[in-house]
Amino acid sequence: MVQSSVLGFPRMGVLRDLKKATEAYWSDKITQDALLAEGKRLRLAHWKIQKDAGVDIIPSNDFAYYDHVLDHIQLFNAVPERYTSQKLNTLDEYFAMGRGHQKGSVDVPALEMVKWFDSNYHYVKPTLQDNQTFSLAQDPKPVRHFLEAKEAGIHTRPVLLGPVSFLALGKADRGSSADPITHLSKLVPVYVELLKALKAAGADQVQIDEPVLVFDLKPEIKAAFKPAYEALGSLGAAGPQITIATYFGDIVHNTDVLSAFANVHALHVDLVRNPEQLETIVKQLGPQQVLSLGVVDGRNIWKNNFQKTLALVEKAVQALGKERIIIATSSSLLHTPHTLASEKKLPEEVYQWFSFAVEKAHEVVVLAKAVTQGPAAVQAELDANAAAMKSRAESKRTNNPDVKERQRQVTPEMHNRKSAFDVRYAQQKTHLSLPLFPTTTIGSFPQTSEIRIQRNKFTKGEITEAEYDAFIRKEIDLCIQIQDELGLDVYVHGEPERNDMVQYFGERLDGYVFTTYAWVQSYGSRCVRPPIIVGDISRPAPMTVKESKYAASVSKKPMKGMLTGPITCLRWSFPRDDVHQSVQAQQLALALRDEVVDLEKNGIFVMAVQVDEPALREGLPLRSGKEREAYLTWAVDSFKLSTAGVEDSTQIHSHFCYSEFQDFFHAIAALDADVLSIENSKSDAKLLKVFIDEAYPRHIGPGVYDIHSPRVPAPEEFKQRMQEMLEYLRPEQLWINPDCGLKTRTWPQVKPALANMVEAAKYFREQY
Ligand code: GLN
Ligand code: ZN
Repeated sequence: MVQSSVLGFPRMGVLRDLKKATEAYWSDKITQDALLAEGKRLRLAHWKIQKDAGVDIIPSNDFAYYDHVLDHIQLFNAVPERYTSQKLNTLDEYFAMGRGHQKGSVDVPALEMVKWFDSNYHYVKPTLQDNQTFSLAQDPKPVRHFLEAKEAGIHTRPVLLGPVSFLALGKADRGSSADPITHLSKLVPVYVELLKALKAAGADQVQIDEPVLVFDLKPEIKAAFKPAYEALGSLGAAGPQITIATYFGDIVHNTDVLSAFANVHALHVDLVRNPEQLETIVKQLGPQQVLSLGVVDGRNIWKNNFQKTLALVEKAVQALGKERIIIATSSSLLHTPHTLASEKKLPEEVYQWFSFAVEKAHEVVVLAKAVTQGPAAVQAELDANAAAMKSRAESKRTNNPDVKERQRQVTPEMHNRKSAFDVRYAQQKTHLSLPLFPTTTIGSFPQTSEIRIQRNKFTKGEITEAEYDAFIRKEIDLCIQIQDELGLDVYVHGEPERNDMVQYFGERLDGYVFTTYAWVQSYGSRCVRPPIIVGDISRPAPMTVKESKYAASVSKKPMKGMLTGPITCLRWSFPRDDVHQSVQAQQLALALRDEVVDLEKNGIFVMAVQVDEPALREGLPLRSGKEREAYLTWAVDSFKLSTAGVEDSTQIHSHFCYSEFQDFFHAIAALDADVLSIENSKSDAKLLKVFIDEAYPRHIGPGVYDIHSPRVPAPEEFKQRMQEMLEYLRPEQLWINPDCGLKTRTWPQVKPALANMVEAAKYFREQY
């Protein structure tokens, strides 16, 4: 019998229940016991959903109150002393590591949190000491949750992050320098103890995730698998059978590592990302080893194409026989929304194209049944699936011939500005009449609760469009008046009309649809609800001109138009899976190009346009080589296509936050943006050296103000920062701006900070 398997389930619940309970606990509205009870309720509900769907292998220990990597930090007693010394209870210590703790006499910042592979989920980095020790936590959570499910009559396969990935994804703490992987021999015995405890509790199977296998690995990491899995694999009957899970890429480049898994029961590979790896992997397996086929996409919302999947599975059956395959989700379903059943507002046609976590659990079951018993056993499901695929492929929504025609007409010249930067700059200088060290902001000003209230009323139809527009104009007036008072040089309208920098554009473009409850965990209790690209994208009407035109008409200084770039729109949406992402990026770019040109036409005073691309770096393929180069080419091209339609005198800005610009510098340079603003206030000014080394000619505004913090830096601090930056940048190159938009700050924090920033810029102007 072919088994069906889910690698992990979303934790939040149908209505983001976990978010609500966690945040209520943080603000002292509910007790710890109430939060724990809610967690238990959700775990049981999620196990039951999978059991009722008929899933054979149901995961446990995939649940976390904040992050599963953070769970492992506590599980192995690898908590830095600055937290243990606070003597908090276990859960508060856990949250302290996740989000910092500032209460009473305790004041500790959070551990570093970074992106989980190429997803929008973030994990807490294991942070290790030179003399790090490990031991198994009392009453270990994987055992506890296994028993909890067992008590409810549900047999589960606990999920653990493997020892090599746990260390490889970690870092040495401040003041330590040992490469985390050097701690392996101390950590492995703790895994052995944990596996024995799981077996004793009744777990006959365990899923051990080693996702770092999709990376290019340095030799020390590669070499770590053998000792680790010799120890874990040799437990025999004393431990559960092990399935090694990899996802988000192929592992073909690391097949030399696979011999380390000689004693494990099964290997799981992601065949959604890389179906081609099947052939290679099949040859690497031992004669008894089972292959778990990750065929149902854990990262997207599209219904599985059963026909295609069954053809792929058939190849595996041919090679291995039915007994040695499992039909699984490609990764944990953590990255998909909970259930499609909640969506009441989706167009009917589109509804049947989607599958969220609950529906994906059904998909693995149907596929497994089709293979075990033959297609006739699930004929109705197969027919319905084929009909949905056909409807999507033939839909007008999916295919817009006008968009395709326009893409055919894109020429290489359309990607380039009319003249080179020095010619453009000479024109912009007179056109914009900017001083030395021009000051500006990144776009948004504080989103006050009044703004949210009015937006809500408008969405609900409680106020008219005219009333809402009048309110937005008043907000823009306020932003402009404040910028006048502050003496900034290039203005923004403040973005009061925008709910979110991607959703706002998606709502104004054809080819997108929106959900009501399709939230996905981003970090801790934070969830995002990405819009979905369902078809060819086009712009039926201008998207931002009304607000920008109004703002320009009432301001004495140059106004920046404010747009989200094509790659960010793509990355922060659920993309289509039926056309390459480069095609979708180009469609977005063409829509934005029209917007940029329209903004220019409507620039009452003078124009600058900022096209934000914070997600450009995130899209970078996990491995170096051809795929990465190809991505950078089409990503850069889409930015250039969206911005190159303007006159030389129009200044194009671009903005990047939290990206290590040094390691994809040539791509940033290739954007040919006249002015670049980058998050930098917390980084070493030395990083700017790359701009001298590479003789970067254009202008740069490295952030001088940390917008994530409520504190107001004094003028001296800004001056100091500018002084440091001037060691690396020519004075005429340097812009003065905050790290990012100010929407999460309050006016009392923003006004004095910007005033001090402007004061510092003026001080330097007098020196030069
Ligand atoms: N213009 C956006 C803002 O100011 C940029 C946000 C971002 O880069 N994350 O809010
Ligand atoms: Zn930013």
